[in-house]
Amino acid sequence: MMDVRQVDSQIYDLLRQEEQRQADKIRLIASENYTSAAVLEATGSILTNKYSEGYAGKRYYEGQQVIDQIENLAIQRAKDLFGAEHVNVQSYSGSPANLAVYLAFLSPGDTILGMALPHGGHLTHGASVSISGKYFHAESYGLSEKTGLLDYEALRQKAMECRPKIIVAGHSAYPRIIDFALYRDIADESGALLLVDMAHFAGLVAGGVHPSPIPYADVVTTTTHKSLRGPRGAIIMCKKEYAAAIDKAVFPGIQGGPHNNITAAMAVAFKEAATDEFKEYTQQVINNAHALAETLVEKGFDLITGGTENHLLLIDLTDKGITGKAAAQVLDAAGLVVNYNAVPFDKRKPWDPSGIRLGTAAVTSRGFKEEEMRQVGEWIDTVVTDPENEQAVAAIAEDIKSFCKGFPAPGIN
Ligand SMILES: *Cc1c(COP(=O)(O)O)cnc(C)c1O
Repeated sequence: MMDVRQVDSQIYDLLRQEEQRQADKIRLIASENYTSAAVLEATGSILTNKYSEGYAGKRYYEGQQVIDQIENLAIQRAKDLFGAEHVNVQSYSGSPANLAVYLAFLSPGDTILGMALPHGGHLTHGASVSISGKYFHAESYGLSEKTGLLDYEALRQKAMECRPKIIVAGHSAYPRIIDFALYRDIADESGALLLVDMAHFAGLVAGGVHPSPIPYADVVTTTTHKSLRGPRGAIIMCKKEYAAAIDKAVFPGIQGGPHNNITAAMAVAFKEAATDEFKEYTQQVINNAHALAETLVEKGFDLITGGTENHLLLIDLTDKGITGKAAAQVLDAAGLVVNYNAVPFDKRKPWDPSGIRLGTAAVTSRGFKEEEMRQVGEWIDTVVTDPENEQAVAAIAEDIKSFCKGFPAPGIN
């Protein structure tokens, strides 16, 4: 970073500040992680200089001798990792990947059926503020108010009623494994395509500690930067018969040139994700989520669905007498970074909801195990139970800073 320092001291200082923040705080945002130094290096490489509109062997600019090899390598590794028939690695991120799938199969006004945003779905699954809800007719399904679990019977009824062209499975804040075979049945029964958006749990699928949607879904999208621990980007996987439609939708449908630096970094991340080390990492992510969940349940926290089967926890703080936003802010001051989150059937507004969401992907990358998670649970409890106690909050922030020194984060010196 010597050059940034010379050219732009302001950005250099800010980079260092962010690096320090990522080193000193316990990052529990469920969509975040620490990529390896190798992934960072590929991301920051000269590949950013090259334009490559099109696909390997069929580009619109010359000079693709190296780029084609990089993209083919990324594709092959993703195919091997997930067992997919066809892979497109060019999506800039998760949202454009989902948009490309809609463009491939839908006309404006066609119906999609996705999980409701406040029940753990993503904006791009048909939320009214998103293009997915504005340009298409979006219907939603959700969780049972009684159990907090996905209500498959209600989903089936909704699908039979509204006959969507696409059913979207997948979530950003649902702590349970979903039943892909059941989704497949419902899609078949109602004549819909099945899109599984596994952005959050793709790393767990790659590590073999979570069921794979690949055998069941027509199309699977995923970001590459969450539990999968790669660069910021996304891939789309599909059955061979949809390959041409998907590729055409990504380019020229909604994008121009792919970000070749990201493609190379994805290839690196996929290679890493195929190792035994990564498998162990993903098992630890789940063990850590269990340890944190147990500690918090012991402390009287109200976990949606009562626990977790993946890397994330959703907590309703209503009983604790604090809002999600207030809790998130004081936790951040204490060195515990989380996001506030709506809980199912939330009586509060989305910008000041009742819950917080926690994830274990990032802390596991820096070596936290069950013991550390129990300590994290203790800290969360102390802060949330007595949020006005500024002294205690500041003391925990100091403790966490020195605690973190024992767990150097990948990619940070
Ligand atoms: C994070 C996420 C996305 C969107 O990813 P971006 O890269 O932020 O556009 C899409 N779907 C789900 C389920 C997600 O969790």
